[in-house]
Amino acid sequence: MIEDDPLYRRRRLRLVEALREKGIQDERVLEAIARVPRHLFVEPALRARAYDDVALPIGLKQTISQPFTVAYQTQLLEVRPGDRVLEIGTGSGYQAAILCALGARVFTIERHRPLLERALARLEALGYRVVARCGDGSQGWPAFAPFDGIVVTAGATEVPEALCEQLRVPEGDRPGGRLVIPVGSSHQQRMVRVRCTGPGTYETETLHVFRFVPLVRGSDEARRRQS
Ligand code: SAH
Repeated sequence: MIEDDPLYRRRRLRLVEALREKGIQDERVLEAIARVPRHLFVEPALRARAYDDVALPIGLKQTISQPFTVAYQTQLLEVRPGDRVLEIGTGSGYQAAILCALGARVFTIERHRPLLERALARLEALGYRVVARCGDGSQGWPAFAPFDGIVVTAGATEVPEALCEQLRVPEGDRPGGRLVIPVGSSHQQRMVRVRCTGPGTYETETLHVFRFVPLVRGSDEARRRQS
């Protein structure tokens, strides 16, 4: 693992300014982006482009999300230190690192084992600790629920009810859990935020248009077992 260096640091700070201009206002999210070395989450050949505001390939037809998208989803999650956050679609591990940098306890699920293994090696080398599992995350991770935040980093066709049920119910000064999920067709999705407002009650906001790789049901291993 190569060290962070001043060239990448300068580029990262320029990216932060670009994100601010595009409307990201949460200073804690911007600070996390300024800290996490995105170039270490892509293959060496792509490092020069790591601080452009673009999605980049990470293998197996998947991508590391565009920095704007990561910042936008993270801002919507309203993460506070100590929050329990579930990520569905670990991919490169970059979004998980951003959540760790914000002080969250991160749980993450990825259906492609080689991607998960690479992501976990990077996170460990950088000192970020997460709880991870390989498989289909579309139904969440009930064993570790409730979550203060759930972020789905692949496009879904609908909001899975199981994910809403794993959001924290608000109590005292602890707010209800937030689910941030892109929902739509395979071509484009709208960002949706579902907030738990009480036992079994939710408030849904439909926001901007994005384009994500699809949320696929069933894990590779389940597929191999079937064939
Ligand atoms: N958060 C990632 C973005 C990765 S792209 C990052 O920061 O790099 C979305 C990822 O979701 C892909 O790696 C894809 O394999 C994974 N994915 C798609 N459907 C899934 C499912 N049902 N369960 C778990 N992971 C899934």
